[in-house]
Amino acid sequence: MANNTNTSRKAILVTPELCIGCRACQVACKSWNQLSAIKTKNNGTYQNPPDLASAAYNMIQYSEVPSDQNAVRWLFLSRRCMHCEDAGCMTICPSPGALYRTDDGAVAFDRDKCIGCKLCVNACPFDVPRYDAEDKVTKCHLCFDRIGAGMEPACTKTCPTGALKFGDRDELVGAAKQEGFGTIYGEKDLGGLGSIYAFKEEPKLYGMKENPEIPSSVVFWHTYLKPLSLIGLGGVVGAAAIHYLAIGPHKDQEEEV
Ligand code: SF4
Ligand code: SF4
Ligand code: SF4
Repeated sequence: MANNTNTSRKAILVTPELCIGCRACQVACKSWNQLSAIKTKNNGTYQNPPDLASAAYNMIQYSEVPSDQNAVRWLFLSRRCMHCEDAGCMTICPSPGALYRTDDGAVAFDRDKCIGCKLCVNACPFDVPRYDAEDKVTKCHLCFDRIGAGMEPACTKTCPTGALKFGDRDELVGAAKQEGFGTIYGEKDLGGLGSIYAFKEEPKLYGMKENPEIPSSVVFWHTYLKPLSLIGLGGVVGAAAIHYLAIGPHKDQEEEV
């Protein structure tokens, strides 16, 4: 089900142990993409925003874990779209071109082609896609516009510690292995991710999902139902009907939060 034939694939390498939680990456993303501020409230953690949102394409997830010194360790994890090679969102999307692969291997979106069916929300193993006030999909697009103009993504350009690095995917993976990182999360998962993570500890300590998979309902949709929708049912009505067959009723994001 791979939907990427790109040979010069670019990626972001995240090294959580180098992250100091400054959130400059969040600000840079908002600034470049002209995303509005979000009103949040203090929930007893410095993590802010509490989750990805239509105006928050990336975020630093804060986790507290016990340390050896009878104290607490703070772990910081940069979350954003993983730009999967086997991208569940692209597989299930019934509107051609609404989600598409860029020349650099990113999964980007065209809001004018999005029909607001929200099938991609259920199809994403990483809970990434969000919807704006007009029910159009939003998420990290790997700053394809900056890359096309010879620049690196805003978040990687801004990161002061090297916790985010942008470059050729194969080179980033090779360099991380040479530096002694035992686990390169995303090297092979889902055909290879475009957001890869270098860990010396267990990825699950940072809250990473073990063995991410595309939901079986999406595979069923891709094999049997999507061709039918494209032939005869197309558009919002077809997608809505097949949403119930493939996934079941969806909840509003606010309701899920
Ligand atoms: S992380 Fe989710 S939204 Fe991003 S490419 Fe993968 S399936 Fe699509
Ligand atoms: S790559 Fe661009 S769009 Fe994606 S999180 Fe970084 S700044 Fe935001
Ligand atoms: S800019 Fe870099 S160091 Fe700061 S929070 Fe983001 S990833 Fe971490």
